[in-house]
Amino acid sequence: LNNRFLAEQSAQSVTLDGEQINLMLNAGLELNTEQSSAHICDGVGLYRTEAWFMQKGQFPSQTEQENWYREVLKSYHPAPVVMRTLDIGGDKVLDYFNITEENPFLGWRGIRISLDHPELFLDQLKAMLKANMGLGNLKIMLPMISGTEEVDEALALFEQAYFELSEKCPNQKLERPEVGIMLEVPSSIFMLDEWAKKVDFCSVGSNDLTQYLLAVDRANARVAQLFNPYHPGVLRVLNKVANECSKHSLPFSLCGELGGEPEGAILLIAMGYRHLSMNLSSLTKVKWILRRLNINDMQQLLAECLVQSNAKQVLRLTRNFMIEHQ
Ligand code: PEP
Ligand code: MG
Repeated sequence: LNNRFLAEQSAQSVTLDGEQINLMLNAGLELNTEQSSAHICDGVGLYRTEAWFMQKGQFPSQTEQENWYREVLKSYHPAPVVMRTLDIGGDKVLDYFNITEENPFLGWRGIRISLDHPELFLDQLKAMLKANMGLGNLKIMLPMISGTEEVDEALALFEQAYFELSEKCPNQKLERPEVGIMLEVPSSIFMLDEWAKKVDFCSVGSNDLTQYLLAVDRANARVAQLFNPYHPGVLRVLNKVANECSKHSLPFSLCGELGGEPEGAILLIAMGYRHLSMNLSSLTKVKWILRRLNINDMQQLLAECLVQSNAKQVLRLTRNFMIEHQ
């Protein structure tokens, strides 16, 4: 069994009919185990920088950050690493940065904090840019974007960081990473036509997107039953993202938990997602299932799922499909 597992781990990530699916890692929590898995993924689709900030007793300096980010970029080089700028607030708090709110998931979170504290944001961006010198596999991703002003302000601060660093070290080649946004606030889905001209890529954060589409607190056990990304309303939105991004030639991926579930991965691949980012423990099982399926069959399943009236029916159909096609 062990040999079969290892063989499966290093097998190519292609569907039965030859479509390449990039399986990437969600990282940030356990660098040691994650680093040693660089060879079984196509890079990091979500590096949660806040995880490291949460372990610290104070904001790390720019130099400390730079050294840390370089370690991470090096472990996966030359594969890409999508580093997300600080995404605190909501359920993620820093002991040394007080946020007290009645409604944290609708409050001061992610990019909102970075834009209100440009000194922190610029430090982080500069540390990332410096860490990327001579490597070039960094991509930067902005969390919790809900409006055009945020996109514009964040990009302006990125330009400022890039400009100030190039002035400071004119003899060194400063790579220009791609900058993308997370799609996790419903309004962002309706702005893609405008934002496609501004950003280089986007990635769906299906955990938050599900929470905000269904108005269900993702951390509240009492309503956990209602938190369901297989809700046909959520699936239709995910499908819309794939269509909109394809229409506007904006590279897109998904990095929420849904992409790491075999049922979710099948439906997303059918929609046109070719980059899925997931936890280490999901990589091999998602690869195992997609290697046994054809895109056409998955698309037929998707068409049926999109017209179901509830998540239970979607899951029943998808699980039956998996059993039939093993
Ligand atoms: C998400 O919201 O889906 C996501 C990937 O980000 P996080 O879980 O860190 O909020
Ligand atoms: Mg999120």
